[in-house]
Amino acid sequence: MVEEFKNLINGAWKDSVTGKKTENRNPADWEGDLIGLFPASNADDINEAVAAAKVAFEKWRLIPAPKRGDVLKLVGDLMVEHKDELAHEMTREMGKVKAETLGDTQEGIDTAYYAASEGRRLFGHNAPSELKDKLNLSFRVPIGVAGIITPWNFPIAIPTWKIFPALFCGNTVVFKTAQITPKSANSLVKIIENAMKEVLGKDYIPGVVNIVHGSGRVIGESLLPHKDVDLISFTGSTAIGKRINEVGGRDLKRISLELGGKNAQIVMPDANMELAIDAVLWGAFGTTGQRCTATSRLILHKDIHDEFVDMLVKRVEKLKLGYGNNPGVDVGPCASEEQRETVNEYVQIGLNEDKAKLVVGGDYAKEGDLAKGWFYMPTIFTDVTPGMRIEQEEIFGPVLSVIKCNDLEEGVKILNDTEYGLSSSIFTQDVNDAFRAVRDIKAGITYINGSTIGAEAHMPFGGVKATGNGHREGGWTVYEFYTEWKAVYLDYSGKLQRAQIDNY
Ligand code: NAP
Repeated sequence: MVEEFKNLINGAWKDSVTGKKTENRNPADWEGDLIGLFPASNADDINEAVAAAKVAFEKWRLIPAPKRGDVLKLVGDLMVEHKDELAHEMTREMGKVKAETLGDTQEGIDTAYYAASEGRRLFGHNAPSELKDKLNLSFRVPIGVAGIITPWNFPIAIPTWKIFPALFCGNTVVFKTAQITPKSANSLVKIIENAMKEVLGKDYIPGVVNIVHGSGRVIGESLLPHKDVDLISFTGSTAIGKRINEVGGRDLKRISLELGGKNAQIVMPDANMELAIDAVLWGAFGTTGQRCTATSRLILHKDIHDEFVDMLVKRVEKLKLGYGNNPGVDVGPCASEEQRETVNEYVQIGLNEDKAKLVVGGDYAKEGDLAKGWFYMPTIFTDVTPGMRIEQEEIFGPVLSVIKCNDLEEGVKILNDTEYGLSSSIFTQDVNDAFRAVRDIKAGITYINGSTIGAEAHMPFGGVKATGNGHREGGWTVYEFYTEWKAVYLDYSGKLQRAQIDNY
């Protein structure tokens, strides 16, 4: 029996009005492992969910923030309890190895506890009044219904970066996850809903969190222009992000966009080579290269270029591909056939680019059980030069381009010279070079002697240029997006005091 899943709308798990379902399959065993059937919803389901969230908002915004924090504390506890099972199912539906899906889940747990603790802060500011007997305060207020649209590469962590701050700030949520990872999203929403019921008891409010499954083109598109959706938080490709900005922007919705990347690691001659190799292996081939922060370019100083490439290729050849829930596997499959085809198309582009040299990989991986899934060999091109398509465009797969540089200045110039600006890294033992790089690199995140991937829940996360529209997720910065500021003046002078007129 194949398990059938439902949408959660207004506190009830229900089928889509379409009655249609889509399949969720294991990318490591496509024909052999059907995980479940999920609703193929339409605009009517979205309308119902938004209407429920709108009604729920009027009650949820009045629940004290520390109490909303208590809900998130329990969400964190339940995620700890179910961590292993969440990670196992995540690996099954999108492919990355279990160590990484455990990390993805842990990031959600960290985000829950961080948001829970902020429930007792959510600080505003006071400022002195320019008039006597007057008090000036400012504090944060919730905004309304948040439309949350997420990709498949971090099926739990990314939704938690959005849903938890949205909720703790007092907003309600309509969540549309990627079609590739509906099960992780459903499990997360189930945990949130259970925590709501347990913490709020008789004050439980249906419709605070709703999840609607279906395609971006259908339900995503009906969420964007909806008049009762006040904010949209989106993580995904730059192409869809631009579309969201355009449609949502027409109605002056508040929009947060976390988009693509073309991240690079620079290695200087004085770097610890073994460490730099560990980092690039993790950054380029972890999550099969399907991270917005993946190391897609390696910029090597000319003095160490040849030796570094030799050492790196030897390590890449030893990476073990397979189903990520099996022990000893380093690299899982691409998340879908379409994703693997994109990777292969870019490899063909690389092969046709003037001078680029394929040194390892460059083909589908089909040996033995690998033939059952969407596996691709970890791939490296050397002799890549600035401006080549494989050097400029986001591939989102296990493909690394190596570029040679003459000095730090040129390395940073190459690193900066793309439309994106998410993550970056430099390996050097020279403190002066490290600080120059921090100063000159144009990216939202810079690592010194660390890989381009990896984020901590309490730090600002996001990028510059075409990677986003200036908002940040994570840490304290995310609350700027989910709240409005209200300024309050209390005049206890007993007379009409006119600022700027009576005092000057
Ligand atoms: P995507 O194709 O842009 O899809 C992202 C989400 O948008 C999915 O839920 C998708 O639904 C939905 N969608 C598609 N078309 C839509 C439309 N017209 N209106 C509204 N929603 C729509 O991206 P992806 O392939 O899932 O993820 C990979 C991309 O995400 C990469 O570019 C990566 O760099 C980026 N990313 C960025 C960050 C960051 O923080 N900067 C983090 C992770 C990933 P479907 O289910 O129908 O596809």
